[in-house]
Amino acid sequence: MRQIDPFTTLHNKVPCRICGTTHDAATSMGRAAWPDSGSFSVCVTCGEISVFEVSALGQVALREATLAEVRDFTRDHPDAVQRIIALNAMRRDAR
Ligand SMILES: [Zn+2]
Repeated sequence: MRQIDPFTTLHNKVPCRICGTTHDAATSMGRAAWPDSGSFSVCVTCGEISVFEVSALGQVALREATLAEVRDFTRDHPDAVQRIIALNAMRRDAR
């Protein structure tokens, strides 16, 4: 992994588990983004919440979030949940 600016870290390519979009960077609005095992990932294409798993060699994978993790995410990141809802509404309206 390689941090390219204060808010973006490049990582190996991984597909979204739901829509297949290839992801190769972790970004965060207003704070550093460095994927660690157990940190959340939100697909910019479909809004799916996944969880990073990072190997000892720094290889990133995405796994399905457990129900408890989704509950933690919605509790701890209400701003991100609102952005996901807005993104999905824009996509629905564009169809
Ligand atoms: Zn997706």
